[in-house]
Amino acid sequence: MNQQLKEDQQNQPALLTTAVHAANEFLDSLAERKAAVFPHGPYNYTDLPETGLGAEAALAQFRTRYEAGLAGSAGPRYFGFVTGGSTPASLVGDWLASAYDQNPAADEDSNAPQVEQEAIHWLRQLFGLPDSFVGTFVSGATVSNFVGLAQAREWIGRQQGVNVAEDGLWAIRPFPILAATPHSSAKKALAMLGLGRQAITPVPTLPNREAMDVAALAEILATLDQPAVVIASGGTVNTVDFDDLAALAELKQKYNFWLHLDAAFGGFAACSPQFAHLLTGQEAADSITIDAHKWLNVPYDSAMTFTRHPELQLTAFQNSAVYLGDVNENPSLVHWTPQNSRRFRALPAWMTLLAYGRSGYRDIVERNCAQARWLGEQIEHSEQFRLLAPVRLNCVCFTPASNPSLPQIQEFLASVRDDGRIFLTQTVYQGQPAIRAAFSNWQTEQRDLEICWDALRELVSEK
Ligand SMILES: *Cc1c(COP(=O)(O)O)cnc(C)c1O
Repeated sequence: MNQQLKEDQQNQPALLTTAVHAANEFLDSLAERKAAVFPHGPYNYTDLPETGLGAEAALAQFRTRYEAGLAGSAGPRYFGFVTGGSTPASLVGDWLASAYDQNPAADEDSNAPQVEQEAIHWLRQLFGLPDSFVGTFVSGATVSNFVGLAQAREWIGRQQGVNVAEDGLWAIRPFPILAATPHSSAKKALAMLGLGRQAITPVPTLPNREAMDVAALAEILATLDQPAVVIASGGTVNTVDFDDLAALAELKQKYNFWLHLDAAFGGFAACSPQFAHLLTGQEAADSITIDAHKWLNVPYDSAMTFTRHPELQLTAFQNSAVYLGDVNENPSLVHWTPQNSRRFRALPAWMTLLAYGRSGYRDIVERNCAQARWLGEQIEHSEQFRLLAPVRLNCVCFTPASNPSLPQIQEFLASVRDDGRIFLTQTVYQGQPAIRAAFSNWQTEQRDLEICWDALRELVSEK
């Protein structure tokens, strides 16, 4: 055995203790660490050593060279994108997932797949989804959208008498894909599916909203002479607007379409009686995307994909002809997603769900939404900023009152990032260059909001 490997093997317990210290120091730093750090280059990459340093020296070198450049994105004042943190229990689960190093795709050597199914069972209960939804862990909402839309493609194929997974897109006629304000990743998924980013026919939105005008959708559906795919938003990223799922459910009685619901973070509205109504009708969806590394606050990367048509998911993703399809036989995880081998990704989710339960998640969701509301109210009453949309859930969409151009927004956000107290990201909302603040971290407290509001006002007045 290689000398460094041998020494590290003998030293494993001490090494893990060193890692625990490093992790605790990092976690302790989050309260004060810069929320984000721009990687000013150029980086001086070293050469691969012929003789390795051993794990302890490698960790020391990593910390010296790179640790200061890591984002405080797991901390309480990173409001960019929709970024979750890691709950203590999820971190425990994630560490142990690496120590256990199971491959749940191999269903005959451990009970890891059962842990995954129990986590899915709890998640269905958290989200208020009926047991008829089959769930699978994937790496993120983009992949979950891919898995849902792959089934939509199979479903369309069936109705044209074609098995797309076997015979390819060559064999089917183009079909309509309709959406109002889809997330960019839905277009990426369509590109990966060979359907193309341009395949979406835009459905009008309601006035001053990102939500779909369902009456306009009904008019489009009435003109079609073939089945369609509708991609619904269960929370847009700018203003967390929800398509009217109950109205879509009703339309489904009348028209033949696949309903894919992208509820990457909006699905967590179900955790609170204040917001659960936003998802009324969700059970009519054929496939649903919900992220875990956002509001479940588990470490990257983790999401769920839910379906009411497991046989189509298996058709699209079965790994070999040896699997000849009875869903009730509980086919191995190798047949369900783009991945074959996979990590024990469900364990952090399992751990955090059991540790904090339904009320723990209700608390995180309600606190984050109250925080977004608080910031929205400050903005509404300020002369320096302007709120661009009502705060519906956990995101605030706003702009400096001076109506800056996109490059000016970018410059302002760069100054915010370099200041380090908070991190925010840009967007364009209804043609208007804008800023988003998303709240989805369990650690965020009122103190952080006040720091955020101070930083915004100070930095905008310097402009
Ligand atoms: C974040 C997000 C995605 C993509 O999620 P990843 O986890 O980054 O792949 C898709 N849809 C919506 C609505 C999102 O918010």
